[in-house]
Amino acid sequence: MAESIFPPFPPELNDEEFAHLVSETIDWCQAHGLSVRPPPALLEAARNPTNALSSHAPVTLFPSPFPRKNFQDALKIQKVYNELYAKIVQEESWLVNIIEDLSKHDTFISNLYSIHTRISSTGGPSQPLSLGLFRSDYMLHISPSSPPAIHQVEFNTIASSFGGLSSLTSTLHTHLYTTGHYTFSPTSPISISSLPPNPATADLARGLAFAHNAYGPATSSFPKETAILFLVQPNERNIFDQRALEYALTDTHTIVVHRATPADLMAAYANTQRIQATSDPSELKRLYELPRLELEKPTNALIYKPPYARRAYEISTVYFRSMYDPSDYESSDAADLWELRYLIERSNAIKCPSILTHLAGSKKVQQALCAPGELERFLSQRDAEKVRSTFAMIYPLDDSELGRKAQELALNPETAQHYVLKPQREGGGNNVYRGKIPGFLQSIGKDKWPGYILMELIEPPSISNVVLRNGNVEKGGVVNELGVYGVTLWSREKIQENYQAGYLLRTKGVESEEGGVAAGYGCVDSVCLIGGEAKEVEEDLFASSRTELEGILEGLELGEEAESVKAAFLKRFKDLQASVEGLPSAEGDVGRAISLGLGEGYGRPFDFGGEEWKMPEGEEWGEFERMGGELEGFEKLGRELERRLDEVDRRLEAEFRGVGVPVEGRRWEGGSVFDPKGKEGEEEERKE
Ligand code: ADP
Ligand code: MG
Repeated sequence: MAESIFPPFPPELNDEEFAHLVSETIDWCQAHGLSVRPPPALLEAARNPTNALSSHAPVTLFPSPFPRKNFQDALKIQKVYNELYAKIVQEESWLVNIIEDLSKHDTFISNLYSIHTRISSTGGPSQPLSLGLFRSDYMLHISPSSPPAIHQVEFNTIASSFGGLSSLTSTLHTHLYTTGHYTFSPTSPISISSLPPNPATADLARGLAFAHNAYGPATSSFPKETAILFLVQPNERNIFDQRALEYALTDTHTIVVHRATPADLMAAYANTQRIQATSDPSELKRLYELPRLELEKPTNALIYKPPYARRAYEISTVYFRSMYDPSDYESSDAADLWELRYLIERSNAIKCPSILTHLAGSKKVQQALCAPGELERFLSQRDAEKVRSTFAMIYPLDDSELGRKAQELALNPETAQHYVLKPQREGGGNNVYRGKIPGFLQSIGKDKWPGYILMELIEPPSISNVVLRNGNVEKGGVVNELGVYGVTLWSREKIQENYQAGYLLRTKGVESEEGGVAAGYGCVDSVCLIGGEAKEVEEDLFASSRTELEGILEGLELGEEAESVKAAFLKRFKDLQASVEGLPSAEGDVGRAISLGLGEGYGRPFDFGGEEWKMPEGEEWGEFERMGGELEGFEKLGRELERRLDEVDRRLEAEFRGVGVPVEGRRWEGGSVFDPKGKEGEEEERKE
């Protein structure tokens, strides 16, 4: 654990203030579904037979301090990570080599991989689209020799959870700020500009909706209605996290969602087999009223009739929140569960994720990407370098030269202190830490070692916070893990959607080495951004936009026109910066307006609307009052900024056209200033 790099935290409250904060938090969680099914320690399952009772999710009472710059770095790199993993799956052979090798040492991986080979040997998957709802996890690494940096813990390609609860936690903390709980203490670093919004729920649901819409209308002869299937674990305690996505899909996108466990699907499939084996009309009539799971021929449409529904649905998208852990396949009919995964993979439904995408999330892939030159197989030099800057050192444990070095490091109890040993598993509780590594390796036998990777421990700064768990308060040292969500939808040839989709801050006690909230160790949190206020953020934003846009220019092969286009571009950029500087502003809030509304870091429309943001009377709002009053003013400011940026964007594009630079179909994806235009926008401009 490194030294603290933050101001004293959390803010000090007296007993009454603190008690009020606790009761307010519990009520808010219950009122908004920031909840879990009660853990057995709180309430035995037998006393909650109908699931009528829930309890608040474990949360921090204060948002944890996190450097603004590192937070923005993590958000910004997400699109590149999305692209990287989509390409790893698209290009297949590099991944397949790694997985084939891994399969020799790990039966679970080998079972997953054999589904892919079975499908490849019979003509390949019938559905060309894949959906990724990813989450890249980082810890802040503190070293005496360099500034704090984000280092990646792992990249999740299956069942990336907590999007639903993390959006709610951001809203909870903003609510606690608005109601004055964080400003009782005059030294509190929590201000409104330190609490970024977190649209994870809406953005992840939108990803599933993209897939559903891309699937298109039903292809089967019957039924004609399509739906998304959430494949979930039985007795899921983290159900409200999943429900948040489901309700966003039904309520915002009017898409039907069904939830089923693997056992539900197996029972439905067994009925389909009975249907196929009988020709007795009355028996057929009876069976058709029962649940059914079927792969229709020849379309490969996946048909599911849930036990509670009178009709069947064609499944457009299967969203896996299950079947990623060996325990999900452990039952008396394990072979059938593997057949079920095969049946789904073979179907025409879009999988989130496909088998190959699931396998791309192996720790071994993360390790392989660390080797020199590997990222460049998939990314431009610039992007590869950016991604590499987030890596911690990871070693293989095989017979290669590096592997043998790692074996030495891992077997020596002194050097092992700086490492964590990881198998190819997801979901927490599988890693071996520090001094336990040598004994563990000796106990499993050398032939199993290549199935593991050895990773340098990241040294996060020490922070104090207060965790509320099952109504009880735990104060003390915590460690934060920042996860950034990414959504991407791709076909074999093309990435169709790619965006960053909000974040998760997971916090655990320093004494606990794992971070799984549902597993009972950690809790959900949100960031209180520290440093880089107002001017600094603005300058940062301009500087990074400029570098990125210059990069785009370089990549355009402008030939002789290069210099004139560059000069025109730089002039435009200066004008823009000057025009933004000329806007009425208050310290902290233009920065917020830009970073919230317009920066690539957040990349979503500026929005201060909603009841919560009404200006209350009182001291702590002086900052806003100085701005000239109403919050509507911020909204106007945001719109004004957006308008000006849009203008410059258009002018620049005209400039490019003027010197013959091809702009058709080009999105200004690299730039933070230029809002990426939607397809409609591009269409419009093409007509101009
Ligand atoms: P899983 O797939 O089981 O979630 P992770 O790689 O995320 O596996 O590891 C689980 C937990 O172990 C992380 O949430 C983090 O708390 C801790 N951890 C993993 N790698 C490191 C590391 N390199 N340095 C410090 N802690 C780590
Ligand atoms: Mg993890």
